[in-house]
This record gives sequence, structure tokens and C-alpha cells, in this order.
Amino acid sequence: PSGLYIVATPIGNLGDITLRAIDVLRRCDAIACEDTRVTAKLLRHLSLHKPLWRYDDHSSAEDRDRLLDAMRSKSVALVSDAGTPLISDPGYRLVRAARDQGIAVTSLPGPSAAIVGLTLAGLPNDRFLFAGFLPVKEKARNDMLLELARIPATLIFYESAQRLLKSLEAIATALPGREVAVARELTKLHEECRTGTPEALIAHYTNHPPKGEIVLMIGPPVEESGAIDVDALLIAAMEHDKPS
Ligand code: SAM
Repeated sequence: PSGLYIVATPIGNLGDITLRAIDVLRRCDAIACEDTRVTAKLLRHLSLHKPLWRYDDHSSAEDRDRLLDAMRSKSVALVSDAGTPLISDPGYRLVRAARDQGIAVTSLPGPSAAIVGLTLAGLPNDRFLFAGFLPVKEKARNDMLLELARIPATLIFYESAQRLLKSLEAIATALPGREVAVARELTKLHEECRTGTPEALIAHYTNHPPKGEIVLMIGPPVEESGAIDVDALLIAAMEHDKPS
């Protein structure tokens, strides 16, 4: 049937493609993708040939309208270079417009690095907050960490190997005492996951400069017994000062 199919693809190990993803990629009329070379490689692996239409962060509203037009009579799959489309990847405007225009949208679940990292880290996961990439600029990065510091949840970020040490240093300062996990090269040959204090991870990665793709996670704030609860003290002081 015509419409838009959001198709998650592997984040490293090609064995992680789902049967349903293969079926939709085989049946669809065209595939919208970020980097046509990356998607062409996946299609070669699956022995499929399909028209590839570029759709990425630089695509214009006109590009989007052309895709939407096609979806009225054709089935179009949306994939990203790796993992689940829309998760720190292009697509949300396309999905929104398709839904607004009554075009059928179907999403096929599959790998996403954030979830693979979270399941591997051994950090509490009853609540988590995925925050995409940390800003590159120091001030913006610190501001974001401070903004997230008190949220009672594990925080998940995408990170580059080249910026990992800077981010760990910022975390050590802005969120002292928190447990941190670095999950690298997930589903690939050199998959690794390390959990520890930011200081311990800084020491490790200074001696072993990290390579590849990274998910960085920060455990929730710990309510230390005996620690001073500033909010409780303030509330108590206000109660005390209230005229009776
Ligand atoms: N949409 C993708 C997903 O669902 O996983 C994420 C796209 S985002 C542009 C790319 C970032 O995801 C990388 O910079 C890295 O932080 C993370 N990532 C992707 N694949 C990974 C892997 N195999 N191991 C660790 N992190 C990965």
C-alpha cells in the first residue's frame, strides 16, 4: 500500500535488520535516505535495487513536498544512515506533514543506539531522558548539563570519539559524584561498555584514546543519606518564619 514507512536499519551489525524491514524495503517503490552511498551499501547486502531519493537535514520544503506527492500513490521507505530514523536523524517534519495530509505512516521498530547503550550500561533505567548530542561549545554544553542535573532519570547522549574527554570533564564538574557509562561501537566487533566515575573514565580514555561511535550515559542523582537537603532546609525555614 502507498504511504510512508519508517524503517530502522542496523547500527553496525547487519544481522540486526528485521524480517519486516527487509520485506518493506523489497516491496517499496522508492527509499528516502540520508547518504545514498550508505543506503546503497545496505541494499547491496540485501541484493535489492531501488530508486534512492536523498532526504536529509538540508532538504528543502519543496523536496519534502515532492516526497509527499509520491507517497499518495507509491510506497516510500524512510531510512537513515544507521538506526532508527528521526532519533537524532531527519524525518520528523516529513512524518508530521504526511500525517497532516492524511498519508498513511507506518513505523517499523529496530535498532537504536540509545536503547542498546541503555540496556548494556547497568544504570537504572526505570526512567531515562534521551537528550541527543551535547552542544559543542563549552558554555552551551555546561548550561545543558546544569539544566539536566536534577532530573531524576538516567541521561542518554550521543557523543563523538573526538569530544568524549571534553564532555567527561564537563560532567565531572557540573554533575560531580554521578555514575557515568560509555558505550562504544555497539553491535560491532570492538563493542565496549565502561561504567564508572567521570574521573576514572577520563583516566582510561586519556590512556586509550577512544575511536568510533559512542553513547554516553549519566546515572540519576543519588540521594545520599546524611547529605544536606537544601530544599527541605529552605522549606523548614519558611515554615518557621510564617506568622502564626
Ligand atoms: N538514529 C540513530 C539511532 O537510532 O541510533 C542515531 C543517529 S545519530 C546521527 C548518530 C550517533 O548515534 C553517533 O554519533 C553515535 O553517538 C550514536 N551511534 C550510532 N551507532 C552507534 C554504535 N554502533 N555504537 C555507539 N553509538 C552509536
